[in-house]
Amino acid sequence: MSGKVRNLVLVLGDQLDPASAALDGFDAARDRVWMCEAADESRHVWSHKARIALFLSAMRHHAVALRARGLPLLYHHLDQGSLPSLRETLRRDLPTLRPERVVLLEPGEWRLRRDFEALAAESGVPFEFRADRHFLCSREDFAGWMEGRRQPRLEHFYRWMRVRGGWLMQDGGKPAGGRWNYDADNRSGFGAGGPGRVPPAPAFRPDAITEEVLRLVAARFSAHPGGLDRFDWPVTRAQALSAMRDFMIHRLPRFGPGQDAMWAGEETLWHSRLSAALNLHLLQPREVCAAAERAWREGAAPLASAEGFIRQILGWREYVRGIYWQTMPGALEDNALGAEAPLPAFYWTGDTPMNCLRQCIGDTLRSGYAHHIQRLMVTGLYALLLGVRPRLVHEWYLAVYVDAVEWVELPNTLGMSQHADGGRMASKPYIASGRYIQRMSNYCRGCRFDPALATGDRACPFTTLYWDFLDRHRGRFAGHPRLGQQVLNLGRKPQAELAAIRARAAALRAGA
Ligand code: FAD
Ligand code: SF4
Repeated sequence: MSGKVRNLVLVLGDQLDPASAALDGFDAARDRVWMCEAADESRHVWSHKARIALFLSAMRHHAVALRARGLPLLYHHLDQGSLPSLRETLRRDLPTLRPERVVLLEPGEWRLRRDFEALAAESGVPFEFRADRHFLCSREDFAGWMEGRRQPRLEHFYRWMRVRGGWLMQDGGKPAGGRWNYDADNRSGFGAGGPGRVPPAPAFRPDAITEEVLRLVAARFSAHPGGLDRFDWPVTRAQALSAMRDFMIHRLPRFGPGQDAMWAGEETLWHSRLSAALNLHLLQPREVCAAAERAWREGAAPLASAEGFIRQILGWREYVRGIYWQTMPGALEDNALGAEAPLPAFYWTGDTPMNCLRQCIGDTLRSGYAHHIQRLMVTGLYALLLGVRPRLVHEWYLAVYVDAVEWVELPNTLGMSQHADGGRMASKPYIASGRYIQRMSNYCRGCRFDPALATGDRACPFTTLYWDFLDRHRGRFAGHPRLGQQVLNLGRKPQAELAAIRARAAALRAGA
């Protein structure tokens, strides 16, 4: 391509959809795609090596696919010199390329939107932000749904999405099977026998492109957390589709009942492991939901499993994105419970005698994955009960998971997990003692602590901190419709026991 560029089309690392709206009307004679591996994107939080490798490998594969379609592409490689930030690299390119305009999908992250808007103002080049049709609910539609709601709730949003898209509906506007929600069928542990044989999620062997990226990440980000030995994530759309089909056949049928359960050595269980492919836009949420609904309609999966799965994507995933854009940038500073403790150092190593945390953090550091209940009810719960500063918890979650992108991670961490938003996302904090973990997993069997004890040397730290949390926040939650009873139970504890709980909690906090 010679001469001046008409549209310089930016493709960011989490916008790898071959049919992206940013490419609408692309003219290979006049337009050019721009992609950049900026070091800042791996460093603004202390990213897991697998997270960095996944983004880079998927971007490089996407670039190959775009070139094969004949799209002219300027691609900045991380290993070709020092590329600080996306904004800085683009700022250097604009005077040379002199595009009439820069075209891009609305970025998923508030920080990047701010950076690009600033660059547009500074450079005088117009930036055209296009709506991202990957999502099933546009930002405008979500804002419309929110209007007039003082207490938005996932359940209301999810039903609205079901009706408006016709998902899992039957004649007469009723939900399939007559119920909106099968959560009550989906909350069991495995019992003493465990989960039985779980079909493993497919592993994708690194090809030459991925191997090169793995070497680059190992060399350049050697001090970052996590390992690369187990890297087997899908990095192309074809691989992502294959992972999706495998899930629909082998694990969706049992997804529902096992959704909340955990088991040592079984990292994936019946979960899909599709979040990273979805968040990179290698998969579209509508095709994933359609595949799950089809599996149910064809009799290959029970309704409780299909509904439970679709709720996560059509409901939670779209809901948290809407909430993110409604609440940024203020949400970053949310700290409704006034939590100020540091994040325990073992979150970066897994080196702790608490078996549940050791297992979940160990899984996370090995592969960059842990399923939802491990995140919410083990690592998240401990930080909440301990009273860790939400911003630090947020930075950890954004760093260590391969699927971590801020629009989905932040509301989950600050809202759902840490209650830092004061109840905007969830009506009550997700708190529990060690007994919950005992019921939902086998972790406690291999632990030197006892989940039934709140005091003494063998007391489970979760159980101690659970009572301490209620004690510290009793004023806030005493009249709460769903926590009031737990505060009443606290009130029945003898003063001596309460004092011992406080002392042990303080010691746990001091050792953090
Ligand atoms: P499955 O259990 O198979 O669920 C299917 C899909 O539903 C997922 O792939 C995901 O796209 C979607 N989904 C499920 N739960 C949620 C949810 N609560 N919010 C949004 N989407 C959901 N998810 C991310 O994609 N990125 C994150 O950075 C992230 N951070 C989280 C941080 C915390 C503290 C918590 C509690 C949850 C977080 N989640 C995040 C949500 C959820 O834990 C992951 O999406 C899920 O564990 C990914 O594994 P999976 O693909 O096997 O999910
Ligand atoms: Fe975790 Fe407590 Fe169970 Fe140990 S006893 S595994 S610390 S919940």
